[in-house]
Amino acid sequence: MDRNLERNTADKDFDLFQYLVARLAFSDKCFLCDLSHDESVEKYSEPLHIDHMKAFSKGGALSLGNVILLCRTCNLKKGTKELNEVLAGTGLTDSEVANKILQLSTIQRWAEVELKRVLLRKIYKQHPNNAVNSDN
Ligand SMILES: [Zn+2]
Repeated sequence: MDRNLERNTADKDFDLFQYLVARLAFSDKCFLCDLSHDESVEKYSEPLHIDHMKAFSKGGALSLGNVILLCRTCNLKKGTKELNEVLAGTGLTDSEVANKILQLSTIQRWAEVELKRVLLRKIYKQHPNNAVNSDN
């Protein structure tokens, strides 16, 4: 793996592009209450929050594979709690909680792959040999 790509995807603070990929992956909605980005801006005068599921300081990965998109209220509600704990507190059944966790990991995986795909394409296009010849 290209070291610059590693660096770009492992930035501690998300850049705008990563944030936009995350918003796309989460269908522009808070993962917990479905509040949309536009509704968040209207209601709280701020965009949806992108947050690490597991803090870097606790060994969490610095990638989109470890993020969640939440509105201000849900982010405060979650705090440092585990997601399944928060979900159980909303009255969901065990299987509904399990489904939601599965849904999250699918979204995260998509976001991670999508980001890498775009960065790889950028690196590929910038390589002089690929401008006219794509045999390699
Ligand atoms: Zn919310």
